Amino acid sequence: MKKNLDWANIGFGYRPTDYRYVSTFKDGAWDEGALTTDDTVTISESAGVFQYAQTCFEGMKAYTTEDGHTVIFRPDLNAERMMDSCERLRLPVVPKEKFLDAVVKTVRANIDWVPPYGSGATLYIRPFVMGTGPVLGVQPAKESQFRVFVSPVGPYFKGGVRPLKLKVSGYDRAAPVGTGHVKAGLNYAMSLYAIEEAHHQGYDENMYLDSRTRTYVEETGGANFLFVTRDGTVVTPKSSTILPSITRRSLMVVAKEYLGLKCEEREIPFAELGEMAECGLCGTAAVISPVGKVVDGDKEYTFDTSDGNMGPTVRKLYETLTGIQMGRIEAPKGWICTVD
Ligand SMILES: *Cc1c(COP(=O)(O)O)cnc(C)c1O
Repeated sequence: MKKNLDWANIGFGYRPTDYRYVSTFKDGAWDEGALTTDDTVTISESAGVFQYAQTCFEGMKAYTTEDGHTVIFRPDLNAERMMDSCERLRLPVVPKEKFLDAVVKTVRANIDWVPPYGSGATLYIRPFVMGTGPVLGVQPAKESQFRVFVSPVGPYFKGGVRPLKLKVSGYDRAAPVGTGHVKAGLNYAMSLYAIEEAHHQGYDENMYLDSRTRTYVEETGGANFLFVTRDGTVVTPKSSTILPSITRRSLMVVAKEYLGLKCEEREIPFAELGEMAECGLCGTAAVISPVGKVVDGDKEYTFDTSDGNMGPTVRKLYETLTGIQMGRIEAPKGWICTVD
């Protein structure tokens, strides 16, 4: 039986559910892994995760489709991305099959927490790996844990979609040959100062530029950019220092294959911003959020948000991808993983 929650009003926050998955890496190997009801972790005060932020994570969602199945969207890509993150942080790599098995097991065990179709809510899935073994000198921990928990989350835009207002940040998100392309906890710890500053100044998010030249558009603290030019081409920044968003990669396929639009992944000079008609932020949380305004000092760039607070093309992209996820539109092969 589904949990009796007020799905439309649960908000976007952590809410512990019945089960989580834990697997331990010790003596050079992962153990079998198992579900547990214990939502706490007891590890050494000197664990790699505490001392040197040796941790990475993933974020994905389970949905109830129109015909009542529980599905996950492209979890194989999250598995691959976490393998890259682990590698870069010298954490033991979680094999793809183990990742997928853990995610499916955790969702199945918490099936009553998967919000019903049409509620606007979804089940957020958070896999993560951390160094749990003690370290003092800077080195990789010898023991690690891979965990997966889930939390029901409400509609990202409570009370409807609202165009976002961004500022061009004076801070950098990722060093030129750093860790911007992996989902490492450290990237988010150091972004907190900049995001709070932006919030205090009345902005929703930061637009980060490339830190080498500060002339190209990169991304925000947690979502990739997608632009639509005045002649209807969908453009997204190409950079080795942005996080390869699965939502953004999927939207580019939708734009090309479903909507027949011209698509480009290329470097986008900030100086081109004035030529863009529409702007959106792509990520698992909101799929695509419309950007209404980007402010750079005393300059302002505004974007079309005339179709229910979104640009018309961003609206089409949003409707098509959410339609695919919810089972209303046929998905490309391999995009939907059915859990029940
Ligand atoms: C997670 C994340 C995204 C979005 O990726 P999705 O796979 O679409 O959820 C984009 N940028 C950053 C910095 C992120 O951490």
